Amino acid sequence: REPIIVDSMKLEIDASIGIAKYPEDGKDSHELLRSADVAMYEAKAKGGGVAVYDSSVDIHTPERLALISEFNSAIRDGQLRLHFQPKINLNNGEVSGFEALVRWQHNDMGLLYPDKFIALAEVSDSIHYLTPEVLRLSLLQQREWIAAGYNLPVAVNLSARNLIDDRCITVLRDLIEQYDVKAGMLELELTETALMQDPELAIDLLNQISDLGIKLTIDDFGTGYSSLSYLRRMPINTLKIDTEFVNNMLSSEQDSIIVRSTIALAHNLNLDVVAEGVENIETMERLKEMDCDLVQGYYIGKPEPWSNIESWLDKGIG
Ligand code: C2E
Ligand code: CA
Ligand code: CA
Repeated sequence: REPIIVDSMKLEIDASIGIAKYPEDGKDSHELLRSADVAMYEAKAKGGGVAVYDSSVDIHTPERLALISEFNSAIRDGQLRLHFQPKINLNNGEVSGFEALVRWQHNDMGLLYPDKFIALAEVSDSIHYLTPEVLRLSLLQQREWIAAGYNLPVAVNLSARNLIDDRCITVLRDLIEQYDVKAGMLELELTETALMQDPELAIDLLNQISDLGIKLTIDDFGTGYSSLSYLRRMPINTLKIDTEFVNNMLSSEQDSIIVRSTIALAHNLNLDVVAEGVENIETMERLKEMDCDLVQGYYIGKPEPWSNIESWLDKGIG
């Protein structure tokens, strides 16, 4: 635990330890190692230290652990794909940008969606390779759509772990320079829960990000607990109301109230509001009446590879 000085930089080495006991946690070396691995990830998720295997919280099946062990090399081999989902401006009906959503084109298992690998990437170090790669692929694709005459921003999702990582700002700065990204053309989405984990630290990083001309969105708004005083201090441009509320706003009075108050709150704070998870025209019209700025959802367009989006754009929006 003694820090090592290298070129006047202080490096600290940390270890996370997972403990599995024989015979309760495994009857052979293979099973024991697996249980120890699960416990180790548990320890890592808590920020390091020691964890003892607990079968009741073991969501890591052997299949998923095997999957994540392939993930870093999959990134290097170019197996990540992006799907893009349009956002529409309700005031003029025009496309206002695209959200990039990652998929993994696995050699044997086909196209995997984020629910199969993001959570595991987030508790391992893979997230530090995933985010820069998604950013890079997004900017590459954006370069093409700008060349095709669509001067529209791209939004990329960040994880809570990216927010507590010093490398994050360096990666962003380098990419912006490399791809000559103009102010406002890159947006980052961070969940409310991620931002509120350590708001003071988040504010510091968000300010640096914002200074680069990157726009910031709070994702899944309404599912976490935001402190308004922190919200006010964060250089945020947009609030995105969570699918859960938007989906049910026509049938549930409660959800409708939440949507309406979130829109009012955002506007009072001078923020734009996106409603995501818009699945039918009735919901979209209701949101328009409520003065919502932007919508995203299956009704407007599903996340799809760029080639499909491009033909959708060419046809013109309904
Ligand atoms: P999210 O950021 O909230 O993304 C929206 C999710 O809702 C997407 O799922 C999208 O396909 C889905 N969706 C869009 N419109 C509708 C709709 O009308 N109805 C319903 N029911 N769902 C809709 P997807 O692509 O499976 O992504 C799931 C989550 O995985 C994302 O949630 C995000 O948290 C995470 N994720 C995706 N790509 C990345 C990434 O590159 N980095 C990180 N850190 N997380 C990512
Ligand atoms: Ca998002
Ligand atoms: Ca969301």
